[in-house]
Amino acid sequence: MLHRLRDNLARVRERINAACLRVGRDPAEIRLIAVTKYVSIEAIHGMLELGVRDIGESRAQELVRRAQAIHEAFGGNTGKDEPRQPRWHMIGSLQRNKVKSLLPFVDLIHSVDSLRLAEEIDAHATKLGRPIPILLQINASGESSKHGVAVGAASHLAEQLTTLKHLELRGLMTMAPLTDNQSAVRRTFERTRELFEEIVAERMGGPAFRELSMGMSSDFEAAILEGSTCVRIGSALFEGLENEAVHPPDGVEEQAAHDG
Ligand SMILES: *Cc1c(COP(=O)(O)O)cnc(C)c1O
Repeated sequence: MLHRLRDNLARVRERINAACLRVGRDPAEIRLIAVTKYVSIEAIHGMLELGVRDIGESRAQELVRRAQAIHEAFGGNTGKDEPRQPRWHMIGSLQRNKVKSLLPFVDLIHSVDSLRLAEEIDAHATKLGRPIPILLQINASGESSKHGVAVGAASHLAEQLTTLKHLELRGLMTMAPLTDNQSAVRRTFERTRELFEEIVAERMGGPAFRELSMGMSSDFEAAILEGSTCVRIGSALFEGLENEAVHPPDGVEEQAAHDG
């Protein structure tokens, strides 16, 4: 399995490098998040072994379960300086009743799209005594089925979020529409990047506001051309693992279909 993962990872890194080269960006600016929602825990260990520490899950319960299992596998060493210790990214839509159990494990929540959700996170973060880094999810394609706040409402919401003392607004996240139309994909990323720049220019984001989480297996090059700092990649990293891959747990497929 490690062989296969190493090859896949090398190919993805090459594609990231090539996209960066086209626009004169440093590949070191791009954080690679391995999205593991369709694969086994062994595949996650494989990625950690290969030095990929940022791991993304789309369901809160699954993230918690896996974070606990991996924590135990490392003998309970919580130190973030433990080199193989993953950083967990919550990338799927988050229900408020899952926030409390998620927070102790999560390093960055990409999918905040309402004040109510943000307030719930802030309340539990206050009890935990540490600020929780979040991204504001933008619905830049305008598809009604997509999660995320509308472009027109985003900067106001960003401003509200910065008043919550135990949230740290780090930037924006978006998903492109599921389409072969490359210019529609590119426009979605462009619109999100423009919104990001607007928020920075008007100083509504706060000092930590610098992340743009954009790009998946099918569209990460376009996202990098438009300024992404954080790509979320699943299938391109884990293809060819049929023997090891687990079937998605109940609900994941619908969730993925719903998220596009
Ligand atoms: C599943 C998922 C990804 C990764 O998708 P791939 O096409 O497998 O790379 C990225 N972002 C989100 C929000 C996802 O749900």
